[in-house]
Amino acid sequence: MKVLVPVKRVVDYNVKIRVKADGAGVETANVKMSMNPFDEIAVEEAVRLKEGGKATEVIAVSVGPAQAQETLRTALAMGADRAILVQTDAETQPLAVAKLLKALVEKEGAQLVILGKQAIDDDCNQTGQMLAALLGWGQGTFASKVAPADGSVTVTREIDGGLETVSLTLPAVVTADLRLNEPRYASLPNIMKAKKKPLDIVAPDSLGIDMTPRLKTLKVAEPDKRKAGVRVSDVAALVEKLKIEAKVI
Ligand code: AMP
Repeated sequence: MKVLVPVKRVVDYNVKIRVKADGAGVETANVKMSMNPFDEIAVEEAVRLKEGGKATEVIAVSVGPAQAQETLRTALAMGADRAILVQTDAETQPLAVAKLLKALVEKEGAQLVILGKQAIDDDCNQTGQMLAALLGWGQGTFASKVAPADGSVTVTREIDGGLETVSLTLPAVVTADLRLNEPRYASLPNIMKAKKKPLDIVAPDSLGIDMTPRLKTLKVAEPDKRKAGVRVSDVAALVEKLKIEAKVI
């Protein structure tokens, strides 16, 4: 079973985001970029499936600028077998990414796609769901456990009230949640080895996909600053404030 793992290059989660002065987006110049944290979890899961003899090949895919090769090298250092960069400087929106992934899934004959549940830059939480719909495959989103068997995969999902377990007929799409696993750090020898692993670069046109954005960002703004807190003298005063000022009880 071939597993495809889409990995997005995003602003590192430790970076304090700054909004551009004109409100057109967030500052990305001279900002540390890394693999989307949920995608690290997806790569880890795919590599574990290969180590456990359930997957034959793990292919990491990124849609983005030339620098996304670094993100793919990280996936290769974690254990992916090869990588594909769909190179574009256009803004990558979920529908276009899902269409590109569909084309690659069909070209590669992948049986399982493990994505992150959401990218921490756009917070869309759409790509996996759109991909499953476009392919006509079943989907197990927000996975905290993935167990493939013959011709199917059992996915435990994190839902509001607890956990839900679904059985999907393969081929299928899974999206990784935080508790699925703890991704490994790439060791130095593996980082060196990853430099020699195959990384193909293709253009969106070659897959017949038009990347023209369908969504337009109107304005990006910082959240309102939090007001300073006040100390209350006792519990009774707190309850009074919650009731009368905050009106939350
Ligand atoms: P989103 O729907 O944007 O929140 O993204 C959900 C998941 O789709 C991410 O965690 C990635 O696995 C995948 N994805 C989204 N955009 C890209 C991209 N440009 N390149 C590769 N994978 C992506």
